Amino acid sequence: MDGVVYDLCIVGAGLIGSAAARHATIISPAAKICLIGPKEPKTVEEKHGRTIFGAHYDEGRITRTLDPNPIWGVLANRSIARYRDIEKRTGVKFFSEVGHMTICNKENEDVIRMKEIATDLHVNFDIMDHKDVNKQFTYLNIDTYDVALLQSKGAGHVSPRSQLLAQQTAAHLQGCNIIDDVIVHVTETNQLNGSVMKLTTEKGDILYARKVLLATGGFTSFRRLLPPGKELDVQLKSQTVAFAEVTPKDAARLKDMPCVIRKMTQGGKYNLYMLPPIKYPDGKYYLKIGHGEQFETEFTTEKEVADWFRTEGLKSAHKPLLDMMFDIVKGVRPVRTFGDACVTTHTPSHLVYCDMVTPLLGVAVGGNGHAAKSADEIGKMAARMVIAGKWDHDLPADKFTVKFKNNATSKL
Ligand SMILES: Cc1cc2nc3c(=O)[nH]c(=O)nc-3n(C[C@H](O)[C@H](O)[C@H](O)COP(=O)(O)OP(=O)(O)OC[C@H]3O[C@@H](n4cnc5c(N)ncnc54)[C@H](O)[C@@H]3O)c2cc1C
Repeated sequence: MDGVVYDLCIVGAGLIGSAAARHATIISPAAKICLIGPKEPKTVEEKHGRTIFGAHYDEGRITRTLDPNPIWGVLANRSIARYRDIEKRTGVKFFSEVGHMTICNKENEDVIRMKEIATDLHVNFDIMDHKDVNKQFTYLNIDTYDVALLQSKGAGHVSPRSQLLAQQTAAHLQGCNIIDDVIVHVTETNQLNGSVMKLTTEKGDILYARKVLLATGGFTSFRRLLPPGKELDVQLKSQTVAFAEVTPKDAARLKDMPCVIRKMTQGGKYNLYMLPPIKYPDGKYYLKIGHGEQFETEFTTEKEVADWFRTEGLKSAHKPLLDMMFDIVKGVRPVRTFGDACVTTHTPSHLVYCDMVTPLLGVAVGGNGHAAKSADEIGKMAARMVIAGKWDHDLPADKFTVKFKNNATSKL
């Protein structure tokens, strides 16, 4: 066996993989660690030459602790608490603390659960009716029979691109080797000194590692990464987002706008999420809206997913989404509008899989549309697990147990 044998190879340089790399270098400073995955395609040509994509090619993801699921609440809360330190250590800013508002029916069970979780995690929030909302945010409009829960501190949005850069910068400064390639095959092989993992890259290189963590998001089943016969039980769902470029005047007018999620309204209005005007790399400000289940389709093949990533999403959804946004955010005169596509990875438990598949191979996959804000704690949980070779976190292991398709339920 020639060349370097890594102690740990993390496959998938997305939000969870990059966070896991940073934590692994902290937990095991002397270990040889690498993080391998393709960079974001920057041009149309690069997108067309690509079949593997990530869910992090954007400037805005909502971050908040208020969540009806206590596990997601804890994962987010702990991640958010570390954002500023990561920014300080790396010089890369990614968190905008503009606050977060959930609009829903006051009788909804989710509201009751969110209140309990907020109390448990010592998170302050205000409950506002339509008059309170309109008084504080004169340009926001909610229905008279709904309420808004506002978390002003420790909530807002993160730039997934910058968060990824910050995590990778920190990991690299702590000795992690970052490699721009795709892994096409992972297999366990016996050497004189025992078993190691052999990884083959798309560029034709071979790497060896004593342990491997797969953080490959929606693409985990599309290469031979798991042992033969094992396929993760996940659903890949299409996401469409609509953007509205706003004038500098509107951007200034909406500068204190929080992120918004609307769900389970009394009037049965569609679930949606919105981000306030964010400055994109082209120097312009965009408002963004995405949907709940309403416009989702499920994908099963790599071709379906890759083709989808090259589109603007479901074109027929752009106008209804923008109409919903301007029903809540008043008086905006968009300069232009357009859409984009992405894919989310869902598990039956609605929680991320974080588990060992074999003693040398772990997975951290299944963000369920929630993992951008919580990637740091998920990465920590996964790094601790794969280094220890077993569960090593205070949250209960059984919440994160991996499940396979085709009745391949047991681990090896
Ligand atoms: C439109 C949209 C809006 C969202 N909004 C929010 C939000 O507001 N708040 C929130 O918290 N979350 C949100 N999410 C979810 C969040 O972005 C994801 O949960 C998160 O990105 C998942 O992280 P991940 O590391 O599992 O996957 P990814 O970020 O997709 O990273 C996986 C990485 O693995 C790489 N990879 C795959 N296969 C291979 C291979 N064979 N070899 C090497 N590398 C490989 C990919 O290139 C990719 O970089 C949103 C998602 C979408 C699509």
